[in-house]
Amino acid sequence: MLGLMMDMPLLISSIATHAEKFHGGQEIVSVTADNPRHRYTYQECFGRARQLAGALENLGLDPGDRVATLCWNDYRHLEAYYGVSGAGLVCHTINPRLFPEQLVFIINHAEDRWIMTDVMFVPLLESLADKIRGVEGFIIMTDEAHMPKTSLRNIVCYETLLAAGSGDYAWPTFDERTASALCYTSGTTGNPKGVLYDHRSSLLHAYAAVAPDVFGLSSRDCVLPVVPLFHVSSWGTPYSMPMAGCKIVYPGPKMGDGQTLYELMDTENVTASLGVPTVWLALLKYCRESGKRLDKMQRAVSGGAAAPRSMIKEFRDVHGVEVRQGWGMTEMSPLGVTNTMKAGLEHLSDDEKLDLSVKAGRGIFGCEMRIVSDVGQELPWDGQAYGALQVRGPWVCSDYFKLNGSGGAHTDDGWFDTGDVATIDAEGFMAITDRTKDVIKSGGEWISSIELENTVMAHPGVAEAAVIGLPHPKWTERPLLVVVKADGAEVSGKELLEFYVGKVATWCIPNDVVFVDEIPHTATGKIKKIELRRQFADYQFPA
Ligand code: AMP
Repeated sequence: MLGLMMDMPLLISSIATHAEKFHGGQEIVSVTADNPRHRYTYQECFGRARQLAGALENLGLDPGDRVATLCWNDYRHLEAYYGVSGAGLVCHTINPRLFPEQLVFIINHAEDRWIMTDVMFVPLLESLADKIRGVEGFIIMTDEAHMPKTSLRNIVCYETLLAAGSGDYAWPTFDERTASALCYTSGTTGNPKGVLYDHRSSLLHAYAAVAPDVFGLSSRDCVLPVVPLFHVSSWGTPYSMPMAGCKIVYPGPKMGDGQTLYELMDTENVTASLGVPTVWLALLKYCRESGKRLDKMQRAVSGGAAAPRSMIKEFRDVHGVEVRQGWGMTEMSPLGVTNTMKAGLEHLSDDEKLDLSVKAGRGIFGCEMRIVSDVGQELPWDGQAYGALQVRGPWVCSDYFKLNGSGGAHTDDGWFDTGDVATIDAEGFMAITDRTKDVIKSGGEWISSIELENTVMAHPGVAEAAVIGLPHPKWTERPLLVVVKADGAEVSGKELLEFYVGKVATWCIPNDVVFVDEIPHTATGKIKKIELRRQFADYQFPA
């Protein structure tokens, strides 16, 4: 027998409608390239999002078409999230830090029809224009006074486009499984892979995110998302913050700047903020050097990479700020676990609590996890056994965009293999111990170790090369190049690092080179990265 409840689709536009009605006066503050402190209300934001939706329809876009954004965290980007998805289009958020070839690949693979771009990315798009011919036009996210001179064809000024959109636009209703947003991950080998979110997954994820033991958001909170809107929908905050009615503060292009973040937090009374450890380390450094205290902040959500114990301790002991670590992935919208104290563990000493807070966290309702051995056997939750971490749930991807099951990341019994290796303890706290995917995460951005290995193998002095990610005090992780010299070759580390210049992005070049006699291999001849990382566990990068 079926229940007798209303069948209302879970649509992103319903968050806008709710937020506009119940929190219409709530503030959104942004730093933008054309305004150091833009300030307006939810009512204005969602009214403009409706105007945008109408204006996009006027451009002749059809349901399901992809509209890309190449923008920092500010109010116009938030409007795009609602205007695009709310109209039944797909908001494809692009990471401007990707290599040009990756940008070209994802824009063409996504078949973006229009690109909404911040003024500062116009030169970047100009340099790609010949290779992204499918894009029909570009919406520049500014007003007429700040429009740049550009060779890009079919340019529209955002504010002018908006002004032509109708304020009477009514959000359309459609199937809640309609695709809403697209985000490519380069956290795997090969070409970036597209993760296609839908309205239902985004809403369920937002319900989970606002819960007390997750982000714990309420209308009394003022939230500063430092995590970019182009990275896993800023961890879903464009949906969770208006759902809860939070005041929102966006740092614009000033994301990694400790002073800007401090000043925004202080003057806007920010209570919670979200970002990768590199951002928090920059903020702590600024506070330490300037003698400033984070008096109003309550929670710093840290994810994307392991949060160092010393960082969690400094936030707690110096600033009285709780670091709430989380773990997840682009493929998971991203939430999998968050780390909050659990009933029954209050007796732990301060040091023991710190040990616990270094773990990635415990499960969020809605995302199941398990660890399995090499032969696919489920492992015990004893905090000792480690294995491949697999997840499943309504906001975990079931496939990659256009890959039709060839992504190789799903098990036969319907779990997603994260590429992380983890332990889970008896209380359900998961800790990441290693990674099977051959990528390195530096300051929240992925670097392909395979690309670095292939590049240096072209040097005649190299017989074999392996690149591993090792802990780094500022970037969390940086690449180390391990090399076996070719017979009789006289080659220096400096020479090999210089060999990379012009071949890979500068920030991807390894920090150091170590020469060895032998690199460990598996029975099938693959480099044993886990063993190599263990071998270099005590290695420290030169200052
Ligand atoms: P992305 O899809 O770019 O968000 O990257 C997801 C990956 O980042 C995960 O699979 C992990 O390898 C890593 N990651 C995310 N959060 C954490 C964390 N708290 N500790 C360690 N690694 C993390």
